[in-house]
Amino acid sequence: MRHLALLGSTGSIGTSTLDVVRAHPDRLSVVALAGGRNRELLRDQCDAFRPRCVSVGSKGDAEWLRANLSYRPEVHWGDDGLLACALHADADTVVAAIVGSAGLASTEAALRAGRRVCVANKESLVVGGALMHEAARAGGGELLPVDSEHAALHQLLDGRDPASIREVRITASGGPFRDWPLARIQAATIQEALNHPTWKMGPKITIDSATLMNKGLEVIEASVLFGLTADQVAVTVHPQSQVHAMVGFHDGSYQLQVCANDMKLPIQYCLLYPDKQPGPVAPYPWEEARTWTFEAPDLARFPCLGLAFEALREGGTAPALLNAANEVAVAAFLQGQLGFWDIQACNRDTLARIPAAPLASLGQVLDADRAARRHAEGWVRTRVRSFGCP
Ligand code: NAD
Ligand code: MG
Repeated sequence: MRHLALLGSTGSIGTSTLDVVRAHPDRLSVVALAGGRNRELLRDQCDAFRPRCVSVGSKGDAEWLRANLSYRPEVHWGDDGLLACALHADADTVVAAIVGSAGLASTEAALRAGRRVCVANKESLVVGGALMHEAARAGGGELLPVDSEHAALHQLLDGRDPASIREVRITASGGPFRDWPLARIQAATIQEALNHPTWKMGPKITIDSATLMNKGLEVIEASVLFGLTADQVAVTVHPQSQVHAMVGFHDGSYQLQVCANDMKLPIQYCLLYPDKQPGPVAPYPWEEARTWTFEAPDLARFPCLGLAFEALREGGTAPALLNAANEVAVAAFLQGQLGFWDIQACNRDTLARIPAAPLASLGQVLDADRAARRHAEGWVRTRVRSFGCP
């Protein structure tokens, strides 16, 4: 039996995780739930799963929860609340499913405390880099990737001799603008960018999928997780999102991982690892006719992917700088303060202007994150003053 602390329970990954828990009542139970602002859904989840520990974004919402729950769990709030859930003494497994580098401290603390940590929060791996492995080593924690491409790689690489591997290749759907000309992409609206063709996800990752920054973050994530250089991680555009990753060997051959594009599969993979059991997703429907296509990504129309490779090659805190700028730019785009094409410009400017440093400590990573945020926020303000709303 695994006892879960689920951070980000009200989001897209959070609700899918609870679907997996429902499918395995004999293997999985919920000890702690943490959410941000959706207090009504968090209350309903608490009433259904009755966790001992709950956390919500604000003090006011914590008081509301205490008054509106049908039982009396510990109720926390804010960053301390996230940590209280992540480190709850009764939880052996943490699902890190909040969004952004806000997830860094709780992911690191859970690894350091020796938990199995199923990491959906790719930003914490991009930003924390090798420090996350160090935390796991120091505390005996186990890091398993929920991101579909990385869960696929984890399955493909399990038990393989690293010396036999030439490269890994993660697939990208290409997002809603895959076949759009540059001028049309540059003028894309929020609604167009939120219209992802194959995955249903939270707003931040959906915008990242439209810029291909998501794939860029995933390239860095793959490098961090599997100890690969920038030259050993490649991207192939595969609009059907059925092949999730490939491993290329020195003899020129490849192995591919195939499954439905449903996040419940990689979530269950991590929660039950190393067991594979029937779950909420039906076996792959091979009887249905299908066509799969593969193409190379176009870095001129999707420059964020190139920026991620640059940051990975630069190393140190460069990925943290790029990630922080991108979080600021995407939030500004979603608030109507920036145009779609401004996202890559803000990211590029921040990466060029803020110097990267070697990755030494979590505190120093958080400093880099703050410095890049300040710069990107200034960039957004200047842009709004010069051009008004897009
Ligand atoms: P989402 O926006 O749907 O959900 C985010 C969750 O985190 C919500 O419960 C929100 O309340 C909570 N949250 C956000 N900031 C918080 C904070 N500071 N403190 C406490 N709670 C906070 O996002 P999502 O799509 O579920 O993505 C979550 C993470 O998983 C992201 O890092 C994303 O890149 C990654 N991921 C998502 C998918 C997907 O299919 N959705 C796939 C792969 C990876
Ligand atoms: Mg992914």
